[in-house]
Amino acid sequence: MAMDYEAVIGMEVHAQILTRSKMFCGCSADYASTPPNTHTCPVCLAMPGVLPVINEAAVEATIRTGLALNCEIPEYCKFDRKNYNYPDLPKGYQISQYDLPFCVNGELWVEPSGVEPKRIGIRRVHLEEDTAKLVHIDGQSLIDFNRAGVPLMEIVTEADMRTAEEAWLYVTRLRSVLRYLGVCTGNMEEGAMRCEANISVRPVGTEPFGTKVEVKNINSFRSVRQAIDYEIARQIAVIESGGEVVQVTMGWDESAHKTVFQRSKEAADDYRYFPEPDLPPLFPDRAWVAGLKAAIPELPYAKKQRFQQELGVRAEEAGLLVEDQEIAAYFEETVKASDGAESQTIAIWMTGELFRLLNETSSSINACNVQPAQLGALLKLVADGAISNSAAKDVLTEMFSCGDDPEIIVKRKGLEQISDGNAVATIVRQVLADNPGPVGQFLEGKTQVLGFLVGQVMKATKGSANPHVAREALMQELEKLK
Ligand code: ADP
Ligand code: MG
Ligand code: ZN
Repeated sequence: MAMDYEAVIGMEVHAQILTRSKMFCGCSADYASTPPNTHTCPVCLAMPGVLPVINEAAVEATIRTGLALNCEIPEYCKFDRKNYNYPDLPKGYQISQYDLPFCVNGELWVEPSGVEPKRIGIRRVHLEEDTAKLVHIDGQSLIDFNRAGVPLMEIVTEADMRTAEEAWLYVTRLRSVLRYLGVCTGNMEEGAMRCEANISVRPVGTEPFGTKVEVKNINSFRSVRQAIDYEIARQIAVIESGGEVVQVTMGWDESAHKTVFQRSKEAADDYRYFPEPDLPPLFPDRAWVAGLKAAIPELPYAKKQRFQQELGVRAEEAGLLVEDQEIAAYFEETVKASDGAESQTIAIWMTGELFRLLNETSSSINACNVQPAQLGALLKLVADGAISNSAAKDVLTEMFSCGDDPEIIVKRKGLEQISDGNAVATIVRQVLADNPGPVGQFLEGKTQVLGFLVGQVMKATKGSANPHVAREALMQELEKLK
């Protein structure tokens, strides 16, 4: 008898913190597009006799992240040494946090489609330093120390996710939160955000967790889903064929599209953690922490709820709008500026036409030619029946490229809808005179020719008649002929 399995997933995310300087020295932390080994000093090169100094901005960013994730900030925190040997780690240890991290016991809410919002527990957020970067070229291994010592946060969840979709929603929402806070670019492809998935399976209805496998090298959001789905299927297949899942670390091979073995548990390092003797323990000031908490901006989940409940936006569009803080702000400004258009209509136009234009030109909302008030004005024209929906799409495209006001473009292109009943009636009478055959059919009871006649009116006005007004006028004139 086939058994049903359920996956259990916990995520570990590393996020590079956007500080000016590195974690324990004054070197610039901006290592992108700088020549190798130019942002280095005796501290991040681990020369003998040097001492680390804590970067306060990195501590603040970590605590703000923890607060945004509803974590508790313990009274007493410290740094520890995590010992291991690898060429990218010149000290032979990484300064990290072990048993007393800055943030514990938090949560992040995600919304899987078609079910209730789901709470993902956050076990901890701690602060550490990034390693140097190894580059393998033509059989040689080169090392770039620009990344060595860049501040890095690690955010670890409880094993609360059950599907690849939930894990994907979690990292997507987490990226939004990090970007809202301005603490990380969230760019996974550039390695600024890296995630590892811990995955096990168990028979549905049973409590104990199965043996977990850790999957590393997940370098894109798409890979989060693919790697987890692949690994779940692989573990189920192992169990179904009578085998046992072994606790190992695997890597996601993006091109081969599968998880591949990296190392076994027996080969796992014993990090011999001990308190970092060169750094003092920290006691985050309670008033300072409270101030940071009070200054956390409205975050995506709360914003989405508000857009749905107060502005009447549907969940789907609300979710798309809150992913990016600037997009959400643009939406709210448009709502304010457009007395007349429905919020949901604005949401549809933004997530449809405007997103398409932004995508096609790879531009950001901040550099957009169309100001919120202008989009509002355009949608007001549609709401008032002054222009048709399809004309509005052309107008928006034009606004997007030249930045002109919608009214000017509508005039320039002659797109005003004729909503004036008298003007339409004149055209309608002409159309009826030009089409005696269909008119005769209509009078004999073939009402379906009305559509044809509406089409003729639209044609005669080059599409600028309001179709509702045209239909009304036709009915009136035909009535007179009966
Ligand atoms: P490790 O010491 O191997 O890193 P941890 O207990 O610290 O393991 O957990 C690391 C991550 O793995 C956490 O996100 C945790 O929720 C998750 N996790 C722990 N056990 C399991 C399991 N059996 N299946 C899936 N995920 C798990
Ligand atoms: Mg781990
Ligand atoms: Zn340095």
